[in-house]
Amino acid sequence: MITSHLPIEVRSFVESARREGKSVGFVPTMGALHAGHRTLMERAGEECDLVVASIFVNPMQFDNQEDLDSYPSTLDSDLRTCREAGVALVYAPNASTMYPAGFDSRVVVGRIGSILEGRSRAGHYDGVATVVTKLFNIVVPDVAYFGQKDFQQTLVVNRIVTDLDLPTVIRVVPTVRESDGLALSSRNVRLDPTARQRAVAIPRALTEVAGMFGRGEREASKLEARASEIMVEAGLSVDYVSVAHSGDLRPTPIAAVGDVILIAAIVDEVRLIDNAILGR
Ligand code: AMP
Repeated sequence: MITSHLPIEVRSFVESARREGKSVGFVPTMGALHAGHRTLMERAGEECDLVVASIFVNPMQFDNQEDLDSYPSTLDSDLRTCREAGVALVYAPNASTMYPAGFDSRVVVGRIGSILEGRSRAGHYDGVATVVTKLFNIVVPDVAYFGQKDFQQTLVVNRIVTDLDLPTVIRVVPTVRESDGLALSSRNVRLDPTARQRAVAIPRALTEVAGMFGRGEREASKLEARASEIMVEAGLSVDYVSVAHSGDLRPTPIAAVGDVILIAAIVDEVRLIDNAILGR
């Protein structure tokens, strides 16, 4: 496995693979890798001849300096994970390579980037869209893999791929969870044992809502209220609960099969997000 900090090296590695007729799968990450990331890499390996991953904690997508400073960094074990998952090349640039002096451009995504996560974290999706566009321009992957856990992010990425004519197919991989249902997240390591236990209220709320939907409840406000109640009872601070169309995240007063319920909640200052598709 090759580790590179330089765009030009990544470009020439991928170009020579492509000359040999190989397809390229790409998994962008911010490191602190866990089994969720690993699943994306393995899926890429099943579907593509060559897997490229990136590890870059993107300062542009953080609206909060403390969140950025406390973001876990575990490069050595991340590289081991990539190697074990069959990654051929890891692109791990530093911030000054990604954003050299004078850097002054942004990819700004409209409505889908400004609601829910985009509203709570100003500029977050502009940061995501900018870095993903840069990474796609360097790697030019045939297929790129993203996790369903960051549901809105997958819509933002699909938006830029369509709008900017990027020649990459986006695949969304189901959320990988702990045995008690908590979605794996690099931020989970910041939860102390009590907070970790309370965080399970998030998947519990999703399961409860799925059950209500299964028993015939269709009123979005009732589904949202019950999810909030479960999380508040567990001592979480709820940022939003939204039942929405899964294609564009417009709120749906009457829920239908295939709609999504999205949650953001804060547990001891750690912000966690999760979601579930209704009726699946
Ligand atoms: P991150 O390093 O948090 O930026 O995540 C990199 C990629 O891994 C994104 O596409 C995430 O959606 C995905 N990912 C993160 N957590 C999970 C999970 N628990 N299951 C599946 N994919 C995930």
